[in-house]
Amino acid sequence: MPNLSLQLSLRREDKKTSIGNWIQCQEVLDTGAICGKWRRAPLFVVQSSDWDCSCSVLWDPIRADCAVPQFLHHSVIIKSTI
Ligand SMILES: [Zn+2]
Repeated sequence: MPNLSLQLSLRREDKKTSIGNWIQCQEVLDTGAICGKWRRAPLFVVQSSDWDCSCSVLWDPIRADCAVPQFLHHSVIIKSTI
């Protein structure tokens, strides 16, 4: 069934384009330091001064917690987007 594989690849493309931003967590931790982890977010979600990891629960519940390490190091992100 060739149509099935086509549908699957299209669905994979949709997911790739719907998540396109990187936003840095601004949550102040118990230690007094800012969390500062970078999280993937859909393009319509923009950086704000009170954005924190838990905000990504809608599209990335696995990483929607300051205790979860970020997906990529910041320097790697800059290299891959510029
Ligand atoms: Zn955080």
